[in-house]
Amino acid sequence: MTATVIDGKAFSARVREKAGKQVEILKRQHGLTPGLAVVLVGEDPASQVYVRNKGKATQEAGMKSEEIRLEDTATEVEVLDVVNRLNADPTIHGILVQLPLPKQVDEMAVLDAIDPMKDVDGFHVINTGRQAVGLPAMVPCTPLGCILMLKDTLGELSGLNAVVVGRSNIVGKPMASLLLAESCTVTIAHSRTKDLPDVCRRADILVAAVGRPEMIRGDWIKPGATVIDVGINRIPKEDGKTRLVGDVCYEEAIEVAGAITPVPGGVGPMTIACLLANTVTAACRQAGVEEPEV
Ligand code: NDP
Repeated sequence: MTATVIDGKAFSARVREKAGKQVEILKRQHGLTPGLAVVLVGEDPASQVYVRNKGKATQEAGMKSEEIRLEDTATEVEVLDVVNRLNADPTIHGILVQLPLPKQVDEMAVLDAIDPMKDVDGFHVINTGRQAVGLPAMVPCTPLGCILMLKDTLGELSGLNAVVVGRSNIVGKPMASLLLAESCTVTIAHSRTKDLPDVCRRADILVAAVGRPEMIRGDWIKPGATVIDVGINRIPKEDGKTRLVGDVCYEEAIEVAGAITPVPGGVGPMTIACLLANTVTAACRQAGVEEPEV
């Protein structure tokens, strides 16, 4: 059996197009232009690429895009000053502080300072808590993208066994919480989990968010399972260049799974698309208007 490849690029294009149409309607009917500000502290090359891509996608969707760059020597107070200014800016509906932050800046303090209504990354404890108890919340973009792809692939998720490998605050835990909200039976695995291959083999839905190249092998996967590979790992090639791989050994997994996301071209593009969707949601909630149907 060869798995269906879940095309995150094509799916994300649809999500982005929908966000763009919603922006058009909000501008026309309510004079509302959703605005997203991205704060980058330091010169981390990967972060610079992400921030550039986010800014480009925001503009393509017709939104206001603001990019604030601070030196990697910036103090926590300087970062907090920027966040407070953006919190007070009525033209900015979403604030994203690109992680990681330099070591002199306390990440939790910065995330905590973002107005929860503008927290389009969904990392504020208020949003984490609201989501956990089933109240409307800003949901972290990567897990949100994974859930949208799972629903699109499988339809109803209720009753399925889901295993999430990884328990980070930004992917693993919110992913597990979203799957639970869909009435899956959820197991969260991590570095202390015993017999991880056996745990994975019980999964109808297997989400890998580990950060270890190709750790999950084909024989860890239940035949027909849906595999969502969140991992993005750069590994060396024979010619001295590098290539991106996920946390799942794709060549092996595709022979066993029912459906699988590739790396690149799976979860990655959905993350930015969901950021746009979250910014539209945030703008509507702040302006007290309903999200337009398109
Ligand atoms: P973290 O490093 O914060 O978390 C990794 C998790 O994996 C931890 O919970 C850790 O367990 C667990 N883990 C590590 N080693 C093992 C092991 N041998 N067996 C089982 N579990 C293990 O990573 P993130 O959650 O931030 O990211 C995970 C991956 O997803 C990375 O490759 C990252 O690049 C990628 N990513 C991709 C995004 C996208 O847009 N596609 C967005 C965000 C992340 P423990 O808690 O016990 O240490």
